[in-house]
Amino acid sequence: MSKSSGKSAPRKKRSAAKPAPRKKRPTGKASPAPQLYKAAVVVLVLLALVIAAGVLSRQLLHRPAPPARSAVAPVQRMPVPPPPPSVQPPEKPVYEVFPKTPPPAEPPPVTPRVPRVSPPLVAIIVDDIGYDRPMARRFLDLNIPLTFSVLPYAPFNRTILPAARDKGIEIMLHLPMEPDEYPAVQPGPGALLGSMTPDQLIAQLETNLDQFHHLAGVNNHMGSKLSTSPEHLRQIFSILKKRDLFYIDSRTTAKTVAKPSARLLQLPFAERDIFIDHLDDPGFIQAQMERLIQRAEKQGHAIGIAHPHENTYQVLKSFVPQLREQVTLVSASTVVNHIMAIEAAAEAAQAHGAALPR
Ligand SMILES: [Zn+2]
Repeated sequence: MSKSSGKSAPRKKRSAAKPAPRKKRPTGKASPAPQLYKAAVVVLVLLALVIAAGVLSRQLLHRPAPPARSAVAPVQRMPVPPPPPSVQPPEKPVYEVFPKTPPPAEPPPVTPRVPRVSPPLVAIIVDDIGYDRPMARRFLDLNIPLTFSVLPYAPFNRTILPAARDKGIEIMLHLPMEPDEYPAVQPGPGALLGSMTPDQLIAQLETNLDQFHHLAGVNNHMGSKLSTSPEHLRQIFSILKKRDLFYIDSRTTAKTVAKPSARLLQLPFAERDIFIDHLDDPGFIQAQMERLIQRAEKQGHAIGIAHPHENTYQVLKSFVPQLREQVTLVSASTVVNHIMAIEAAAEAAQAHGAALPR
């Protein structure tokens, strides 16, 4: 169809062009052997077309690089920069790996409940966010004040974070830190390692933090090794202090020295009370939720850490009415501020007591 219409069009044009003064040469020379010249012209036109096609295709083949670069440019201006070439996000999630034996570190000793908060405060941090977008969406749709702790360089941060902010969900950086099992267990992109110099460690931490806007604080992803090093913790905490961020120790090891290190720098600090789902079993998760509520009732506050798993989502969903009735579900920063206020009050009372005449 297109061929026949294409042929008829040039014919009309040619007949119309013949009387035009431009075509002096062809008409002058065409008189001795018009057929031969027509054929020569057709051959020349075909040749020209072939050459033009060749040049065009070569240009097109060489072009892809610049358009790709210009397409990347606006992405770089987005809040979350792409990872450096050396640190590509893994396709598989780098979720916490809990060894079955021994179980994770026990919660710290219960602190007495002073002053009484009624009902007690509970924060539930959902760790390892950024790799499972549909699951993050479902946790958001629970419409409860959870806190999301997001891994650096995670593939879906750009979509999950704005949705979380729209729901008023507090965002923390889930900071990958060296575990005891390293390198057999990899903490993932952006990890802080014991082998890093202070400059390297701080640069990596700053890069991780710079990927996010409106961070409230940080907790550790893995980190059973680094959490026992006061030197590395002080390097980390000095940056968090400068940026006005709090730190919550996930307590992935009982040997953690995060608390004294944070105290030394007067960094707002709290500890995980209950791991909600280190066994991915509905019965176990229910029992841990009960433990979390009981602990909050004893202390006045409690911090639970959960993960974006199906069983956790289902149990949490079933617990929403009970949580609303028995505790005040709040963001992690609210619990941190509460703990800081208690400690400041205790210190002030101690200082006042010390100042009193003996
Ligand atoms: Zn984690």
